[in-house]
Amino acid sequence: MKSYQVIIIGGGPAGAATALYLLKLGIKPVLLEKTAFPRYHIGESLTGEAGGCLRELGIDHLMSEQRFPIKHGVVVYGPTGGESFWVPVMKRDEARQLQPATTWQVRRSSFDKLLLDTAIERGAEVIPAAATATLQENGRLNGLTIRTENGTEEKVRSEMIVDASGQTTFLANQCKLVGQKQRGNYSKQVAVFSQVKHAVRETEQGVANTLIFYEKKNHWAWLIPIDDEITSVGVVVPREYFAAERLSPAEFLSSELKTMNPELTKRVPDLTFVEETRSASNYSYHIKHFTGPGFLCVGDSHRFIDPIFSFGVNFALKEAQLASQVVAKNLSGDPAAASALSDYERLSERGQDIIQDLVDVFWDYPLRFLVLTHHPRHRDEMIDIFAGRIFAEEVFKSAALNALRQCLVQRMAVAS
Ligand SMILES: Cc1cc2nc3c(=O)[nH]c(=O)nc-3n(C[C@H](O)[C@H](O)[C@H](O)COP(=O)(O)OP(=O)(O)OC[C@H]3O[C@@H](n4cnc5c(N)ncnc54)[C@H](O)[C@@H]3O)c2cc1C
Repeated sequence: MKSYQVIIIGGGPAGAATALYLLKLGIKPVLLEKTAFPRYHIGESLTGEAGGCLRELGIDHLMSEQRFPIKHGVVVYGPTGGESFWVPVMKRDEARQLQPATTWQVRRSSFDKLLLDTAIERGAEVIPAAATATLQENGRLNGLTIRTENGTEEKVRSEMIVDASGQTTFLANQCKLVGQKQRGNYSKQVAVFSQVKHAVRETEQGVANTLIFYEKKNHWAWLIPIDDEITSVGVVVPREYFAAERLSPAEFLSSELKTMNPELTKRVPDLTFVEETRSASNYSYHIKHFTGPGFLCVGDSHRFIDPIFSFGVNFALKEAQLASQVVAKNLSGDPAAASALSDYERLSERGQDIIQDLVDVFWDYPLRFLVLTHHPRHRDEMIDIFAGRIFAEEVFKSAALNALRQCLVQRMAVAS
């Protein structure tokens, strides 16, 4: 049986970034990826902190070479299209002052391949295979059964296993050491999406920003430029609404683009889709226990909240950064290795909970959300949260987060 130090299941952003961070620490991981890259994936708008991770990993020049559009922020349009608010991407300088910053919009097939290829160039090994089962001994995960491209099954051992299998949540499905998958707050939604040419992308703040169109609770749309010409378009609605329309995904998307929001209709004059129209549903879930002896989970493999403010890749990259240090501690036999695993789990949950609360307040109290986002006392801290700076003590203690949570406390009081 072959034996490795670290096996990472999945070569998407969470897996490739974990590999890149491990390589920075001098550890050469093995990645299992069951799909040939490049492959289509949804999730094209990056936060400021996701951009920061790419710079930290020394990938920014490759992002420029691929000419991924430069994102300066997000415009959120209200239901009539007449009113909107703007959240800029900003970073904190050494004096903790906010400074203008940029990040990227990406075509995921190219971006994911770029990350994976860079990990390979820097020393990671990729095995084109699917993990199919786990091996355990004395309550410790210590290996996997894998199915290779030619269909043969093999068993492989590993000191540490990182699950970065995305929404397939491999370990939660396969291994009793991992907690059960629970529905998230937005599990009854359907997203229908494709790509168009000729979208009107210009706003006061530039040409490559994320545009969000709010219709009503849990009913919204996005426009995200993914290159000079093509714009990703998507509509998200409650499942019942989609079913009641009795349309094919492409018909449904066209119909919503024509009728949902006047500003959106104006911006998509050409409804010829240049990519297959796809849909995703039941994508919101939460696995509460996702670390243990010999393993941890990163990115979508343990939680996905709601795509509205584009935090998916942010979690994948930031958790990869945190997880790589925990893996290194576990490999070195550090006596604090076990507590490093539970500290990682706690920190990740605290960060994800912030975004859960942000999204809940946005849907349940849109006006209060708007006031908070613009209030002089909270504006800067709200920009931090939007940028994805959600793993720091100062954010946990921030007045903006407290104010967000006050809204939810009142909701619980009313409900009881
Ligand atoms: C409608 C919608 C819109 C979104 N919009 C955005 C957005 O604008 N911005 C954003 O940041 N995020 C967005 N997201 C979220 C984003 O797509 C994900 O959070 C992100 O892709 C997570 O990365 P990951 O590496 O964890 O998982 P993935 O990118 O899904 O990668 C997982 C990889 O693991 C491989 N794999 C799975 N199982 C196995 C196995 N058993 N063996 C081997 N390989 C395996 C898969 O083939 C895949 O390549 C959106 C999500 C949805 C549903």
